[in-house]
Amino acid sequence: MTERAVGDLDEVLGNLGVFRSSPDDLLATCPSGFRRVPITQGDGFYISLQGFAPNQVAFAHTHPDSEEWTVVLSGTGRALLADEPVPLSPGVVVGRAASHPHGFVSGDEPLRLLSIQLPRPKEGATTWDEPGGTSDPIECRWGGSCRRCPRCGGHSKRATAGLFSCENCTLDFSGAAQA
Ligand SMILES: [Zn+2]
Ligand SMILES: [Zn+2]
Repeated sequence: MTERAVGDLDEVLGNLGVFRSSPDDLLATCPSGFRRVPITQGDGFYISLQGFAPNQVAFAHTHPDSEEWTVVLSGTGRALLADEPVPLSPGVVVGRAASHPHGFVSGDEPLRLLSIQLPRPKEGATTWDEPGGTSDPIECRWGGSCRRCPRCGGHSKRATAGLFSCENCTLDFSGAAQA
């Protein structure tokens, strides 16, 4: 068994033995950017829940070293794979081989995904193929101030004065909002 990181849902499982929850209770979606809750991770795998508010984008990127399986738990949207978007609806499974560029966009309702990455993408190996813009900072209903990560589209919270940190890709950034 691979060494596990702490702070994920599997830590909760370690304490409780049995664990039941709804993705809606775990994924605090926010209009600023999509969010991710790790379930369990190690060198060989990264399993997480991913939550999108309506009409939210995960900007296209590539993991050259990791394949990914995505299961749609609720909501609708599209997986952006090369030139052919794949429609997403509850129960759909999308497989993506390593080194295929990909992104996601949610429809008019929140989108919740189960993501299984094999193996865990290596630090620094990911390339960001289509970064977008950030958004104006807002007061987050989950506390603090937040805006969208311009690199991945992830939820980013104010860390220090003027500096925001992405929960998903760990990018630290400042600067004015763009389109
Ligand atoms: Zn927020
Ligand atoms: Zn990011």
